Amino acid sequence: MSADASQEQVDAVVDRVESVGGQAFVSRGVVRTIVGLVGDADRFHELNLHTLPGVTEVIRVSAPYKLVSRRLHDSRSVVLVGPPERQIPIGPGTFTLIAGPCAVESAEQTLGAARLAAAAGATMLRGGAFKPRTSPYAFQGLGEDGLKILADVREATGLLVVTEVVEAGDVELVASYADMLQVGARNMQNFALLEGVGSTGKPVMLKRGVQSTVEEWLLAAEYVAQRGNLDIVLCERGIRTFEPSTSSTLDVSAIPLAQQLSHLPVIVDPSHACGRRELVVPLARAAIAAGADGLMVDVHPEPEYALVDGQQALAGADLRELAAAVRQLPPMFGRCPAAVVAQS
Ligand code: PEP
Ligand code: MN
Repeated sequence: MSADASQEQVDAVVDRVESVGGQAFVSRGVVRTIVGLVGDADRFHELNLHTLPGVTEVIRVSAPYKLVSRRLHDSRSVVLVGPPERQIPIGPGTFTLIAGPCAVESAEQTLGAARLAAAAGATMLRGGAFKPRTSPYAFQGLGEDGLKILADVREATGLLVVTEVVEAGDVELVASYADMLQVGARNMQNFALLEGVGSTGKPVMLKRGVQSTVEEWLLAAEYVAQRGNLDIVLCERGIRTFEPSTSSTLDVSAIPLAQQLSHLPVIVDPSHACGRRELVVPLARAAIAAGADGLMVDVHPEPEYALVDGQQALAGADLRELAAAVRQLPPMFGRCPAAVVAQS
């Protein structure tokens, strides 16, 4: 309530809250009076309390997500990806570049992309073996053959592997090859899949759905966490807006917002956010400046022949620009490039 709210105005709030079965606790401070509400938040929402005289602000204190909420953790979390002898941290203090082809197409293409990724400073390789495609006629991925290629390329390059799992029934298969499981934007609210990836013990990268609010995204993460897995990396990948020039609109504010609401690391996929090669590096720079804990970027040795998303893959001069940005900018925001944490 405002500092000069009258007793009548406070009472009016209390009456409204009690009229829907809630409890109201009034605490008076020197500069303001706070009315704490306990009960059904949805019912309170319907009361439009912020329109009552004397009310300054209505704040939802108890976040609907709990395990991933920042309130339960003093500091932000670092997620460690990979086997004990080769762990890559993702989180505050460090900066992690993940790069690779949108889809695994062949051994040569994946190895070529991995070498480009490593040269640009990546410590992890991305690449879809199971592809959730908007069109049923589009390339759907190589399936387990693609997973084998990813594992071979990890062996050859040392890059750890993140790859998407599309179906709950494939979780164990994908987890037997991947270092981190990706849940894609289209599956952000596939609750069976979320519970499945939460049960493997492997770190999970959860992309934001294109129509999902930050709160819905964190509630999706809560499903994974509820299964006992707190190794979750959030990935902002753009949301659907009225702007048709880009495939999605990168929600830059979601980066610090998700980091303030949750303790989980937040990385950004500028490639899928814009779908246009010439915009990827500027968006990557914006993401780093906004505090992203890492980036996931599409690269391809021959974008003009890519089976999927060639229009957004970096290869030559753009990739060198990205590498420069990833080298130069994170240290300006208190981050060191991701070191490999070897545990004895
Ligand atoms: C991807 O990263 O391969 C992908 C399909 O992205 P998204 O789920 O964000 O659309
Ligand atoms: Mn893609």
